[in-house]
Amino acid sequence: MVEIRVLEKNPYVLKLHVKDIPLHVLNSIRRTILSEVPTMAVDFVVFTINSSVFYDEYIAHRLGLIPLTSEEALEKYKSPEECREAGEKGVFSEDCFVKLELEGKGREGEIVTLYSGDLKTSDPDVKPIHDKIPILALTGNQEIKLEAYARLGRGKEHAKWSPVSIATHKYVPNILIDYEKCKGETCKECIEVCPRNIFDLVDGKLIVKSEKIYECTLCRYCEEKCPVNAIRVKWIENEFILTIESTGSLSTKKILLEAVKILEEKINDFINSLKERGVLE
Ligand code: SF4
Ligand code: SF4
Repeated sequence: MVEIRVLEKNPYVLKLHVKDIPLHVLNSIRRTILSEVPTMAVDFVVFTINSSVFYDEYIAHRLGLIPLTSEEALEKYKSPEECREAGEKGVFSEDCFVKLELEGKGREGEIVTLYSGDLKTSDPDVKPIHDKIPILALTGNQEIKLEAYARLGRGKEHAKWSPVSIATHKYVPNILIDYEKCKGETCKECIEVCPRNIFDLVDGKLIVKSEKIYECTLCRYCEEKCPVNAIRVKWIENEFILTIESTGSLSTKKILLEAVKILEEKINDFINSLKERGVLE
């Protein structure tokens, strides 16, 4: 049975210590999170006026990278595949797209910055996560007027649709100290070289700070530096630290649930295909 310990949990970050799970299973979940879990992002932009110094593509690129709230959108809008097809054909479908309008003028002798919070959305459920992401600056008689169209998409199509900025797993470090060899207080080489401040001395004896062990990067500098080979850096089999950092478009809980659901559907599809071809009964 898989055992899980929550190491960190806040609206954006989820860090789990997962025990008794094969690496390929955890990696499949991680990769599904990165490339398959859909979110809303700007797909194309229609410029009516742009007399700023920023060219259209630059502004469109910036708009695409603004994370949008997507929790409700997963239920309300058509799938990424259906909507991509509509977008490619230039067909505007209300079941696919949310319109975000931006309008602004510069002022003489002053720089006016337009932020993500200045975007006016056609659906309050789909709006920028943060209001203070700069989009462009205007001055003098410069002006901008545009309509940006957001739809559901997946990270495998473009990273702007990925729900996470980070999805990683790493081994759980296991640092072994041979106290018969360790010179402790008279050496301290490993303490000085460790970039994560994992070691300490207690009554002249070298120890690994238990609360810091998860920060070890397995770089092995300590092993290399030890003059008497008293340290071994290893890792625990079938135990991993899974870290998910959401862009804010979906909660970490929703990201995990969606990833597992998608993975399950893919496995079921595969089994059904095998059955259809008589490979499985
Ligand atoms: S492997 Fe690197 S991070 Fe880990 S304890 Fe050794 S020096 Fe520190
Ligand atoms: S470098 Fe080696 S000998 Fe020196 S304190 Fe660390 S483990 Fe002990």
